Amino acid sequence: MTHAHDRALPRAVRLAMPLAQDVVKEVAKLHGVCIRPVPLKRLDTYTGKWEIIDVPCGSPMDSKCPPCAQRNKQLRKAQCREGWHLEEEPTITPDEPNEEQRWLVEFRADTQAQRDEAERNGDDTTDLDTLIEGLDEEINAAGMRGNVLGRAVSKRSRSTRRRQDAPDLPKRKMAHTTLGRTFQAPDGRTYRPSLFVTLTLPSYGKVNNGVPVDPDTYDYPRAARDALHFSKLIDRFVQNLRRVAGFDVQYFATVEPQKRLAPHLHMAIRGTLPRAEIKQIAAATYHQVWWPSVDDVVFEGEHLPIWQDGAGYLDPHTGEVLPTWDEALDQLDADEDAEPLHVVRFGDQVDVKGVLAGTKDADQCIRYLSKYLTKSLGETLDGGQAQQDHVARFVDALRYEPCSPTCPNWLRYGIQPKNAKPGMAPGRCRSKAHKPEHLGYAGRRVLVSRKWSNKTLTEHKQDRRSWVLEALGRADQPIDPHRYVWRPVPAGDANVPPLAVRLLRSVRERQRWRAHMAELQARADGQDLSATEGRAA
Ligand SMILES: [Zn+2]
Ligand SMILES: [Zn+2]
Repeated sequence: MTHAHDRALPRAVRLAMPLAQDVVKEVAKLHGVCIRPVPLKRLDTYTGKWEIIDVPCGSPMDSKCPPCAQRNKQLRKAQCREGWHLEEEPTITPDEPNEEQRWLVEFRADTQAQRDEAERNGDDTTDLDTLIEGLDEEINAAGMRGNVLGRAVSKRSRSTRRRQDAPDLPKRKMAHTTLGRTFQAPDGRTYRPSLFVTLTLPSYGKVNNGVPVDPDTYDYPRAARDALHFSKLIDRFVQNLRRVAGFDVQYFATVEPQKRLAPHLHMAIRGTLPRAEIKQIAAATYHQVWWPSVDDVVFEGEHLPIWQDGAGYLDPHTGEVLPTWDEALDQLDADEDAEPLHVVRFGDQVDVKGVLAGTKDADQCIRYLSKYLTKSLGETLDGGQAQQDHVARFVDALRYEPCSPTCPNWLRYGIQPKNAKPGMAPGRCRSKAHKPEHLGYAGRRVLVSRKWSNKTLTEHKQDRRSWVLEALGRADQPIDPHRYVWRPVPAGDANVPPLAVRLLRSVRERQRWRAHMAELQARADGQDLSATEGRAA
């Protein structure tokens, strides 16, 4: 109750007065305008003028920015539709990083620096983290693969014994195509069947309406580990799928939660394989997690490792330095009898459906694939008490489970996390895998293979833009990619107007644009043609 509201007003009246900014945000949402725009400085090299331009945040999540999430979902749908029944081989060339990619990477670097500074000052980094996350996705979408920080490739040579064994599956000779077979009907028509596959994780105990019948025997630890390593299992599935199919299978997949909180996968696959083979591949696919054992809790409660500069984490009683991540892996390699920490497999429920291009079925699958895209895994739940308790137990099981080599939870098991730094404590990992909204799955929600469509998500965006320009009758104006130079705006820059002002400006622009589009539409329809001409004259 420290807010400096006008105390003269009765409390009820004060509460009924929404903050102006909230109202503006609602208006922005109604007009489909981004509510968390990122201000950027833009130099127009034709005029030499710098301007501050708001760029949409591009968040795929409703909870952050509903208008951007909706736009993102529409783009994903278009992308999914375009690649599923592709008839010609996509032409993918690893192009030079273009202007946009270079800019994104630079911007990403600047944002990282800002974020690190905020962290050093003890400031909240949530917004910057979100921005970085969004930028990483943009960068990937812009055709650069992997992580910008250039994930250092470890020099350690793991023993071959630790490699994942190739499962026992038929292997076809690889054909250099990404397209599936076609079938010629007697009437001469060509059919190009594709697949819609749903893969789930195994049972962890009986559930009723998504909630464990007996929470005490429900295998929460296994459910937690399966969720943490689910993305690796998907990678393996794709590898095996390509090996068996004998062609460069392309896919568009989304990861979604089941009611019981386990992630599952919907995958549109271009081309077709026999159902039985898909089931065989799913059954034979597994991923072994070769991480140190977490069977023994070494440090907990008040008894926690302490940090010493130059040495790393030590045992508080003996002063002994704990093994580093690399040392722990070396020990694991040297141990002939070592077992993987975990093995992930799919469950028995494998759903395979054949789909033909342009059918109602295909449309329904695309809607299904994108249904939950704007929600985080945890947000899709209905939230009854029983389910909330289930979520709480699941999050509890995730609390001390190491989510990655850098997870502070390794300290609990007597190992220094990779890239250990001061201030780490078990149970205090900030990675999203441990959070109720993500339920162990911190991976990407949309997985699109590189040769799915001929386009990246950015190009799909440009498609829409050229459509608009065409509708506006300006399509003949070539877009010069070198016209503008973009720079980030330092936090707290006095030239950036207040958010409410910027949002209203965007709303006005949107209205103007809509009115213009409507007018063009009216003209195209030939309705009231003379009146329109009369006004324009
Ligand atoms: Zn937005
Ligand atoms: Zn963690």
